[in-house]
Amino acid sequence: MTKTKSQPNFFGSVQNYFDKAAAHTGLHQGLLTQIKVCNAVYQVQFPVKIGNQYKVIEAYRVQHSHHRLPTKGGIRYSNHVNQEEVMALATLMSYKCAIVDVPFGGAKGGVKINPWEYNEAQLQKITRRYTTELVRRNFIGPSIDVPAPDYGTGSREMAWIYDTYRTFKGEDIDAAGCVTGKPVTLNGIQGRQEATGRGVYYGIREAVETEADMKALGLTTGMAGKTMVIQGLGNVGSYTAKISQDEGDAIIVGVSEVEGAIYKESGIDIYELLKFREETGSILGFPGAKNFEKQDRNKVMEFECDILVPAALENQITRENASRIKAKIIAEAANGPTTFEGEQILLKNGKLLIPDLYLNAGGVTVSYFEWLKNLSHMRFGRMEKRFNQNTFRSMIDLVEKNTGKSVTERDRSVIAKGADEIDLVRSGLEETMINAYNQISEIRRRKRKVEDLRTAAFVNAITKIGNDYLTMGIFP
Ligand code: NAD
Repeated sequence: MTKTKSQPNFFGSVQNYFDKAAAHTGLHQGLLTQIKVCNAVYQVQFPVKIGNQYKVIEAYRVQHSHHRLPTKGGIRYSNHVNQEEVMALATLMSYKCAIVDVPFGGAKGGVKINPWEYNEAQLQKITRRYTTELVRRNFIGPSIDVPAPDYGTGSREMAWIYDTYRTFKGEDIDAAGCVTGKPVTLNGIQGRQEATGRGVYYGIREAVETEADMKALGLTTGMAGKTMVIQGLGNVGSYTAKISQDEGDAIIVGVSEVEGAIYKESGIDIYELLKFREETGSILGFPGAKNFEKQDRNKVMEFECDILVPAALENQITRENASRIKAKIIAEAANGPTTFEGEQILLKNGKLLIPDLYLNAGGVTVSYFEWLKNLSHMRFGRMEKRFNQNTFRSMIDLVEKNTGKSVTERDRSVIAKGADEIDLVRSGLEETMINAYNQISEIRRRKRKVEDLRTAAFVNAITKIGNDYLTMGIFP
């Protein structure tokens, strides 16, 4: 019997991707090693009283790169958290920030708990204790390290983190910038919740506009009418699906969740599906769709569609299932959904893979906007909205006067709209995703041996971080 070689884990995959790209950067080995390693790893175990028992909880904060400060990255609550996973996620954050020109180093936090096993009061206790440990070690602060939500955490946890930090650092006038993804009413920002899914949409939209790539896949350009399968209907998956359906006219044909999967060739209305799941507790049984029970839920990833969007967990496309994937485009909304070996098979089969470190960077981009808002102590649009509105109105009045033709009230309200915070956030995010895609595409076009978008994205990130170190004069 032949022994199967074990597949590299998530951290191993990230390191492999790095090595593959590093060869195309022209940077010397010492500098590459500095860019590759994690600069600071903090592991802590703390006790929390849960009911009548004390639980000792394992937690991490990893700062991958101090080339820019603060460092930035989400906090994950999951039973699967371990040091290597947090290191992999922190590493991806550095490259992600560099790709979208967000001036942070990468970081990530993890607390090894199943958040669904605890009530709200217990989760608050754990979150406040974890934050206290970070404060004690100087691992949090608006100019040091700024966490955000990730798998198993949301704006509620970010509010607890902010409040705990403020308790210790009340004199810090910029304290609100110690964490992002806060509730909008507590120094958060409009549009943060949808940001990653919206960024995923913008990224896919850019990719399907590239004529040569679409021609090679046998597809026409444009999002309209493209069929999509989505794995995971959480924050990222549900917003990606909603915005792709609403703004891109894409057709969602398959969805998988923890309880199973559904497939409907004629299309699934995503709002109806979310309502159906809320009412019944499951996506299974959705009218007109074919059901796949829990043990077969991943089969939906292998069905015929144009775009497959893994938006749940890492290590979902591996050397075991990659060759059965029929989608022409794999859009990595989740972090690390494709293993290094899985990707090699996909590329050999001519697929277009839009990599996580670019595609899901919308979250950190809008987190950056939130941090800027916190440091400026003012919401975006406050100073210029009315001024712009009045200027646009005067211009319309002038055109009406000079042409003798009047503009309808509806057109007037569209043309003379001063931008609100949400408009500016969406516009900034769209600009960021388009710009970053163009940079990556350009590298793939210019460097003869860089054939895939992931390698191009890594080359872009490594080069930018390397240039920072070179400019600082740390490396010759
Ligand atoms: P989430 O917890 O809101 O959603 C994940 C969803 O996946 C849940 O609904 C869960 O039930 C489902 N799921 C879990 N296992 C599954 C399986 N085997 N098959 C199908 N569905 C499954 O988390 P999220 O914030 O949407 O994050 C999803 C992914 O996106 C993670 O990899 C995360 O690191 C990444 N990401 C998130 C953000 C963000 O802003 N939230 C930013 C960048 C990257």
